[in-house]
Amino acid sequence: MYKTLEAHIRKQVAPAALRAEFRQHEFEAMRRFCLLIFCVGIAIWLIFDLIVSYLGSQDFTWRSGLFIALLCCLTVVLGFTRKSHHFDVLNLLFVTVITLAMRLVIEGVPITLRPLWLMLGVSTVLYTVSVLPVRRWSFFCTMAITWALLTPFYHTGLQVLELEGAMLLSYALCLSGLVSYSYLRIRQAKLHNFYLTKVLLEQAYIDTLTEIPNRRSFMAKAERELQLGGPGQYLAMIDIDNFKQVNDRFGHDVGDEVLKRVAAHIKGAVSGYVFARLGGEEFAVFYQGLDEPAAQQQVAALCQRVREDYSAHPVTISIGLARVDCGDTLSVALVRADQALYEAKRTGKDRFVTWSAR
Ligand code: GH3
Ligand code: MG
Ligand code: MG
Repeated sequence: MYKTLEAHIRKQVAPAALRAEFRQHEFEAMRRFCLLIFCVGIAIWLIFDLIVSYLGSQDFTWRSGLFIALLCCLTVVLGFTRKSHHFDVLNLLFVTVITLAMRLVIEGVPITLRPLWLMLGVSTVLYTVSVLPVRRWSFFCTMAITWALLTPFYHTGLQVLELEGAMLLSYALCLSGLVSYSYLRIRQAKLHNFYLTKVLLEQAYIDTLTEIPNRRSFMAKAERELQLGGPGQYLAMIDIDNFKQVNDRFGHDVGDEVLKRVAAHIKGAVSGYVFARLGGEEFAVFYQGLDEPAAQQQVAALCQRVREDYSAHPVTISIGLARVDCGDTLSVALVRADQALYEAKRTGKDRFVTWSAR
């Protein structure tokens, strides 16, 4: 099953909205990692700068201070960044500053050692950026900036057509190709996984016939509302009246259509509240922040809405309403709403009854 769905997803092009959601989700999940990478980057650069300053007698100048200040500022900004597209720009700025700072340090080592250290610098930056949650344009701009600022052919005396130059150039091309390819493949694999998870979650929490949330979704969401507490919580159990007759007289297909229609009415009438099809022809709504008259008004309006739908095969509904008190469990609330629903059926249907201890 997993493989079939996976193959189906792989063939599809993810919609733009889903890709945007994926980018934001990935950034949120990796924000701490990005912060760590920025901090580790600054620390490594500082260690090398101090080594070159004191052992390489380059001196720790105001420029080093300026770079540290800039890099730290960008890291602080990352601490407050919440949007993935802001990170795309921030990462580009960080890479620009740190590669300039690396160039400064490498200028302090003997000329023969520079190409090697420049290549090490480029490899480290490119590999690191390839695992960060950045968009393509940001990744490829980062790559261009890194090569521009850390090219081993500037200020090193290296010639492209000589042995060492030709070897470095080939290595640079291979490295860029490999890093770009792995960046693109990893992004695509992550996007597919995100897409697949969304599809599976939707299938697990949405009722296939009526396309509204199912029992599993209701139990999870209502339980969370219950934990959060808050005033004026009410649970309504809804049941279609004489639904078996609809099936018996007009067939199951018509029954299904009626179910869809009632589900659409519930969806339209209770937007903002947790609701679901619990199973069969039973639905539930979890109201929040209402007093008793307001909750009763809501369910009365829902009964009226279904009653006054004069399309083919009209039906009515009965509703059991129960107040959820502090400390009540969801199952207690469901039992009470069910008892009130039974009372609504017993006293004539097409109505609501509010649960009371009597
Ligand atoms: P009451 O007014 O007391 O609720 O009577 P009722 O006929 O609605 O109640 P009952 O529980 O006897 O019947 C429910 C029926 O709902 C029985 C079952 O065949 C039908 N049903 C359950 N799920 C579905 C479904 O997905 N599609 C269709 N078409 N019918 C369903
Ligand atoms: Mg029933
Ligand atoms: Mg029924």
